[in-house]
Amino acid sequence: MTTVSVPPKTGATGAARRSTISSDEIVAYCPKCKTLETLEFTQDGLTRTQKFTQENGGVYHDCGSSEPCRLYRAF
Ligand SMILES: [Zn+2]
Repeated sequence: MTTVSVPPKTGATGAARRSTISSDEIVAYCPKCKTLETLEFTQDGLTRTQKFTQENGGVYHDCGSSEPCRLYRAF
């Protein structure tokens, strides 16, 4: 019987991240109120988003901004 060890999560992008890593942290910057907040995405979409709405492929802050937040990948 072979023991398979799962490599630790790294900042690497691309290869072999679909099976073990289920979420990504994204930093959202609201262009209207200048809020900068770390969000967590899963395969199902956005989580922990009391203040943000995911819509039309963009993330909108609930301050009423009509512009989607700018998203940055957190490392
Ligand atoms: Zn805002």
